[in-house]
Amino acid sequence: MLLTITTTYSPATDLGYLLHKHPDRLQTFDLAFGQAHVFYPEAEKDRCTAALLLDVDSVGLVRRSYGHNRENFALAEYVNDRAYVASSFMSVAIAKVYRSALSGNSKDRPELAETPIPLCIKLSVLPCRGGETFLRRLFEPLGYSVISVRHSLDTNFDDWGASRYFTVTLEKECLLSEILRHLYVLIPVLDDEKHYWVAEAEIEKLLKHGEDWLSEHPEQEVIVSRYLKHQRRLTRQALHQLGDSIEEEETDSPNEAEIEEHIGLNEVRLTKATEIIKMSGAKRVLDLGCGEGKLLRKLIREKQFEEVVGMDVSHQSLKIAQQRLHYDRLPEKEQERLTFIQGSLCYRDSRLSGYDAAAVIEVIEHLDKPRLAAFERVLFEYAGPTMVVLTTPNVEFNIKFENLPAGKFRHRDHRFEWTRSEFESWATDVSKRFGYSVTFHSVGEVDSDVGAPTQMGVFTQQK
Ligand code: SAH
Repeated sequence: MLLTITTTYSPATDLGYLLHKHPDRLQTFDLAFGQAHVFYPEAEKDRCTAALLLDVDSVGLVRRSYGHNRENFALAEYVNDRAYVASSFMSVAIAKVYRSALSGNSKDRPELAETPIPLCIKLSVLPCRGGETFLRRLFEPLGYSVISVRHSLDTNFDDWGASRYFTVTLEKECLLSEILRHLYVLIPVLDDEKHYWVAEAEIEKLLKHGEDWLSEHPEQEVIVSRYLKHQRRLTRQALHQLGDSIEEEETDSPNEAEIEEHIGLNEVRLTKATEIIKMSGAKRVLDLGCGEGKLLRKLIREKQFEEVVGMDVSHQSLKIAQQRLHYDRLPEKEQERLTFIQGSLCYRDSRLSGYDAAAVIEVIEHLDKPRLAAFERVLFEYAGPTMVVLTTPNVEFNIKFENLPAGKFRHRDHRFEWTRSEFESWATDVSKRFGYSVTFHSVGEVDSDVGAPTQMGVFTQQK
């Protein structure tokens, strides 16, 4: 397993000072699971590359029972990918071998350690659970340009299809320590596996290396959950410390993001909602129950939308949405396009009148059933947007979520979850009463028996 770091900063060989490794020497370090070698395949004035080669001792791993997927099949301890791929072993190697560089220190070039320089990282084999889409969702928001080449499962048998292994190139002009911190956290997140037991101390490591980028990363929840091996208590604690508003403090049931994460459902849902609103030709858009602003982020990227309003009953969520979208740092013109309002969808609100479209994504199931009648009037009668895109869980699909106990809802705060026929009859009735027509759409992969995980109604006001 090889990690190379290349710079074209001049003099490029200063990379050696940043990494505290001399470009002319091969150095070897003993680690608990094998050896790490550092060498420079090229060291010229205008281009220099440092390589970190991990030589994992597979036999030693079995003996020390660092085995991987032991429960999967009998030989998994002996036949596995651990020696050949970037995993938490690589993170440990980075922390040990590039320790000073990771913390941003350079004895001989302290000012260079504080200077953004052009850097290119190459990981020879990176396992990506969630594929290229997930890989991009992790690195692109951090400003990287990402090139990935997916490997087939076996080059001799094309029809076996693609593997989850990629050769990945990341480019960015930034501090070396910044890249190393991103890799330290995100490599095991992509792999979704750790070779050691995860406990409280892992939160500290995560927060330390995630400082100043994780709290604003749009995939923060998945990153934290995977990094902490999906341990719910630790995940909640870490998100809490990151300033996130996690509501399930006293419960042990998995949260909605964790349950739905495996199928990337939130992303699919928000992308679909954005596309449908865009196609309607809308210019002024409401995001009702906007939460922490994930849909708002997508909406404001679309120039078609001249005005975007995020509304939520929770002050805390609005505050987080503003932070995540860097609202106070947006240019004045962008600030004018985007407004946040606090309010409840159960009370008539003149600020909501006259919009072209409203998104109500995963909100109605948070309302007490007796309040639904008020919500219907507030939205369809008083606000009366030209079109409404509304989504809610399809409860029939819940049996497909392995980590959701039978009979439980996807979120502690859900007051109800509907079957497809319950939702369709509610939506049809509402549209009749308030002069809309409605069409139904599936969001996420459709199962022939239980349908799609999310159901969507698109309401259009009749002229
Ligand atoms: N639409 C977002 C958030 C969904 S979570 C997304 O898809 O990511 C549900 C959101 O609805 C929460 O942010 C919650 O604060 C908000 N909410 C619940 N009851 C509400 C009400 N009566 N009025 C407005 N927002 C409400």
